[in-house]
Amino acid sequence: GSFDELGLLPSLLTTVKKQGYTTPSPIQAQAIPPVLARKDVMAAAQTGTGKTAGFALPILDILSQGPPARARQVRALILTPTRELAAQVAESVRTYGESLQLRSAVVFGGVSINPQIRKLKGGVDILVATPGRLLDLQNQRAVQLNELEIFVLDEADRMLDMGFIHDIRKIIKILPKRRQNLFFSATFSDDIRRLARTIVNDPVEISV
Ligand code: AMP
Repeated sequence: GSFDELGLLPSLLTTVKKQGYTTPSPIQAQAIPPVLARKDVMAAAQTGTGKTAGFALPILDILSQGPPARARQVRALILTPTRELAAQVAESVRTYGESLQLRSAVVFGGVSINPQIRKLKGGVDILVATPGRLLDLQNQRAVQLNELEIFVLDEADRMLDMGFIHDIRKIIKILPKRRQNLFFSATFSDDIRRLARTIVNDPVEISV
């Protein structure tokens, strides 16, 4: 397999090659085509498998084709369990999206909220967030999620382990019903499957 066969924009292929990636990893080869086809995806994948590019590349591709986010709106939300992971995913999104004119931001707790409010004011195409801080920002009306197109739940098993289930349920409630969902977890216990069923719609299932 080659990156050229996955249906990604030429400018994203250029960036991928510049990163030194020659072949897509199994999760990338399996996830990128259905995400580009606007399907929901449920994937069992550990860190280190290349899952970040597996969702970030097709999301960047899709979002580059529509109009930019309006004030305080978000077009794609990536929820992660920890601030370290949020910062890492946001950095990958920035790197992979360097050839595109998309706006991204990252928000997490434990740091001052005001710079985050300012950053969100003009709208962002891609927001990477931890659950608690996202809800704080939503309660303060600094962010609106009613025009969201794509929702990614990353490391769902760690989310449950860390006690974020109630926050996740609250967040899902404020998202528009019609949206694309990408659900990633290293493991798939009964609890995870139960959560996944409340989020994804007729998903393409992937296991690497
Ligand atoms: P992740 O599992 O998303 O945290 O990615 C793990 C590491 O693999 C990161 O350092 C990426 O830069 C790298 N990576 C992702 N995709 C590829 C690829 N197709 N070829 C080589 N390295 C990659």
